[in-house]
Amino acid sequence: MFRCDLHCHSTCSDGLLAPADVVRRAASRGVDVLALTDHDEIAGLVDAAAAAEECGIRLVPGAELSATWRDTTLHVVALGIDCSCDVLLCGLSAIREGRKLRARRIAHALEAAGIEGAYDGALQHAASDRLISRTHFARFLVESGYAQDTRDVFSRYLVKNKPGYVLHQWAALGDAVGWIHAAGGQAVLAHPGRYKVDARRLRELLAEFRDRGGDAIEVVSSSHTVGQASEFARHARVFGLLASSGSDYH
Ligand code: AMP
Ligand code: MN
Ligand code: MN
Ligand code: MN
Repeated sequence: MFRCDLHCHSTCSDGLLAPADVVRRAASRGVDVLALTDHDEIAGLVDAAAAAEECGIRLVPGAELSATWRDTTLHVVALGIDCSCDVLLCGLSAIREGRKLRARRIAHALEAAGIEGAYDGALQHAASDRLISRTHFARFLVESGYAQDTRDVFSRYLVKNKPGYVLHQWAALGDAVGWIHAAGGQAVLAHPGRYKVDARRLRELLAEFRDRGGDAIEVVSSSHTVGQASEFARHARVFGLLASSGSDYH
């Protein structure tokens, strides 16, 4: 028996711990196999690998790619990627370029709602302008007194029909899966229980993800209830997809 956590974040995206600290914390909690899966970014993997070696745990090189399917944003976790693969590196870089422009648009949208200085405020919470996430805007909004906590932010700002929301086109689902495969990795549909799709669209999504070469879905996730985990275990069997498990620790 080994314990694995195949989804977590560091300060290289929107997590609060540096990559090496994420690894040390996981090791101290009994994790044997850990995947670091920062949003659209692999810059943390070098430090994470060194820390994993020190702690004697296995690090799976990963990332969580932002993708668009129809009008829905999806996250695809990449596991076991070769970080020197140009196809993947170019794809990630293109997603990050889109993110940069989106961050400016989010700040403008917040400004239109009377909230000044959001770009610089979010940047203060990010490691650099290499990757700015809505989480960084959320932390700025909490710090500035616009919301109680980040959960509160995501119910009142930054989401559809609320101040600070902007539409954004991420990578096409098929492209994201293709880049991951080009790097020798496995493509895992992250937290499928989080997408706002009805049962029929969910089946269409799972079928299309599989047909585009998707390998697995997350069954166990902090985004899922125990009931959802059972439901997605069944979906994995029906669609012939592997099952993954990850905390989505931030
Ligand atoms: P982005 O990829 O920049 O759009 O940011 C998405 C991130 O925001 C997710 O990875 C979560 O970390 C965070 N997030 C999204 N929705 C919520 C929520 N309801 N509560 C807390 N964090 C959220
Ligand atoms: Mn996140
Ligand atoms: Mn996600
Ligand atoms: Mn995640």
